[in-house]
Amino acid sequence: MTLLRTQLQEAQAGRKAIGHFNISDLVLLKAVFEAARQLNMPVMVGLSEGERAFVGTRQIAAFVRSLREEYDFPIFLNADHTHSLEKAVQAAKAGFVSIVFDLSALPFEENIRQTRQAVEALKSINPDLLVEGEIGDIGTGSEIHESSPDLSKGLSGPAEAKEFVTATGVDILAPAVGNMHGMLKSMVEGRAKKHLDIPRIEQIKRATGSFLTLHGGSGTNDDDFRRAIAAGINVVHINTELRIAWRNGLERSLEEHKEEVVPYKILPGAIELVKQVVAGRLRLFNGEAGLVQSA
Ligand SMILES: [Zn+2]
Repeated sequence: MTLLRTQLQEAQAGRKAIGHFNISDLVLLKAVFEAARQLNMPVMVGLSEGERAFVGTRQIAAFVRSLREEYDFPIFLNADHTHSLEKAVQAAKAGFVSIVFDLSALPFEENIRQTRQAVEALKSINPDLLVEGEIGDIGTGSEIHESSPDLSKGLSGPAEAKEFVTATGVDILAPAVGNMHGMLKSMVEGRAKKHLDIPRIEQIKRATGSFLTLHGGSGTNDDDFRRAIAAGINVVHINTELRIAWRNGLERSLEEHKEEVVPYKILPGAIELVKQVVAGRLRLFNGEAGLVQSA
């Protein structure tokens, strides 16, 4: 079975990015997996600490492993935004193949010190595990925000990015390059889009040579995505767009099945809407070059 590192190298060589989608229930997992399989594109599913607490760290690992094995499909499980070594170790032992170790809220030197320790500890559990480090400020919460936080002071520069990667030994870096967690109301309504600082991505890529993840991708302009991937982004995180589709799909399905109480007759409506969002994003991140299999 392909390693995530190999898949990232292939994506980089092909100037594509692997889509990373957050899940916290079976509806989301099924939607992501079905979309990826139909397009035959590798995919990452991620769960933050809160999402793991809801689903169960070992339980979701077993679920994703079973999909991976039964369908021989490159689906990779990531422990998203993990703020303590204890939680990171739990995920590594459960079988997650990558961990986002996020101490970006700490002072830079402290972030370096603790991330370096985490890289050592986690690789001793699984040498193939990839560790992602975080620098800069991209806000918190994959939700709908009333107003835009001022993140201009939290942008990452190439010098600090290089220092961080060299000193910590992380495999993947998540910089702040104009991206933001969550979406503004205007973005949900389609009146505004996020824009990315493409020259900054190029500079960070050149300085670090590291794999790069773009967090907070929901609501980003399509062309900015294309240019960001060409500039060196290897993984793109989408969460809020899925959560919105999940809610809309569920509401619509409940409306259409007013007397229905059978979950497996109601929930496919939610799966379908999430699946459409995932498929659209996967096509974009893969240069729309994926082969559509007859399902
Ligand atoms: Zn994130």
